[in-house]
Amino acid sequence: MKAEIIAVGTELLLGQIANTNAQFLSQKLAEVGIGVYYHTVVGDNADRLYKLIQEAFTRSDLIIFSGGLGPTKDDLTKETVARAVARPLVHDEQALNRIVSYFEKRGIKMTDNNRKQALVIEGSHVLPNDHGMAPGMVIEHKGKYVMMLPGPPRELYPMFTTYGLPHLLSLIRDQYVVHSKVLRFFGIGESALEEELIDLIDGQSNPTIAPLAKEGEVTIRLTAKAKSVAEAEEMIRSVEHEINRRVGEFIYGYNDDSLESVLVRQLTERGETVAFAESITGGLVSHLVTSIPGSSAALKGSIVCYTNEVKESLLAVPQDVLASAGAVSEETARILAEQVRVRLGSTYGISITGEAGPIASEDKPVGLVYIGATDGMHTEIKTFRLSGQRPAIQLRSAKYAIFTMLER
Ligand code: ATP
Ligand code: MG
Repeated sequence: MKAEIIAVGTELLLGQIANTNAQFLSQKLAEVGIGVYYHTVVGDNADRLYKLIQEAFTRSDLIIFSGGLGPTKDDLTKETVARAVARPLVHDEQALNRIVSYFEKRGIKMTDNNRKQALVIEGSHVLPNDHGMAPGMVIEHKGKYVMMLPGPPRELYPMFTTYGLPHLLSLIRDQYVVHSKVLRFFGIGESALEEELIDLIDGQSNPTIAPLAKEGEVTIRLTAKAKSVAEAEEMIRSVEHEINRRVGEFIYGYNDDSLESVLVRQLTERGETVAFAESITGGLVSHLVTSIPGSSAALKGSIVCYTNEVKESLLAVPQDVLASAGAVSEETARILAEQVRVRLGSTYGISITGEAGPIASEDKPVGLVYIGATDGMHTEIKTFRLSGQRPAIQLRSAKYAIFTMLER
């Protein structure tokens, strides 16, 4: 919800008083998460006020007026708002009674223009004034809200806190549902992702687009406020469509999905299986996948081929390949993937071999990782240069291995 505050009063423009009402209202609105986008001050002039109201309706969902509700000629707020929303002013019984008793209590004679203070815009929700005479008002107009509050701070503060804000919150709660959807990305960094979407992120306030990076993954939370869940979903869908068009290849799942849960779901649905040959990850990939209930339908098994000896004896990597190309090489990755698939009898074979550091064992840079993937017909090798400490390199290698499988 976009809010703005319009303070009415020539004395503000003349610098005779400071606009402390706007400061107070902004603070209160910020506390409940309503964003204020404009503060405007306008003099006691009907034409300029009218123009400003028109403008405010084009850019804000909530417009709060301070001042100009009093009985004198220069108090124009409610008359001008009434004109802008094309509604008449009517007498509010309760407000009139309050005013009458206010005068009776003080033994002062009531004048006609005091009656004027009991006029409210037809159909408005009246905010009682416990510290003065002019009542406040909230009206709804074309799905937007307008609140009018009296200028004196000793009237405005309690009216807003006691009646205005609670009413506003009840309106918002009744009328809006907040619905969100998380898009899960892998294989693209947070800044690269933001760069692709910066115009959307900046230009979009409903739904909001909030990126977050964690453990080598990036998520984007789309949050929409709407009248119904269906409407919110529709709003999210259209933004998601655009995000998908730009960076869809990096989206692997939604909401509570994880790389491993999507892997298990996809393979189970297709009736297919995978087996991993894990060198650098030492079983981490299998651990992640087997943490998902029902993973036995998708994961045939894995071989932790940590040493060259096991690569050679269990997965038939020829000694000369290990000697010439090395354990961390495309050739080894290829043979490991193909062999683990054949030996464990799975649909796919994935291998992960790399240099986790801190000290490289072959003359390869720390962070160099090869991931092999095969379906028995084609084998593909991907090369990664990961940075960070040993645990981070291992975790990201494991995630890349799972992501590689998801792309098939
Ligand atoms: P009244 O019934 O007192 O005339 P009103 O709603 O018509 O109230 P104004 O006439 O605009 O309000 O302002 C009354 C007084 O309230 C001002 O003289 C000033 O002291 C104070 N006031 C008005 N606007 C503000 C503001 N934005 N910030 C702080 N004080 C204000
Ligand atoms: Mg006044």
